[in-house]
Amino acid sequence: MNDKPTSITPPPYPKNTPGECGTGRPICGKPARLYAVGWRCDLHSPAGWAAHLAAQATDQQ
Ligand SMILES: [Zn+2]
Repeated sequence: MNDKPTSITPPPYPKNTPGECGTGRPICGKPARLYAVGWRCDLHSPAGWAAHLAAQATDQQ
């Protein structure tokens, strides 16, 4: 008898589609660039999102 496991559960792959922004609810899906945090469009990129939040803060004057 050989009880070696024959089925190994593969790690869950990220659902991000290469080239599409993988953040947002629902998923943004816009053309994106690959950042350290994953695929992000101009709006959702780390720098773009910071600018977005800064603009919102400025609007509330
Ligand atoms: Zn996006």
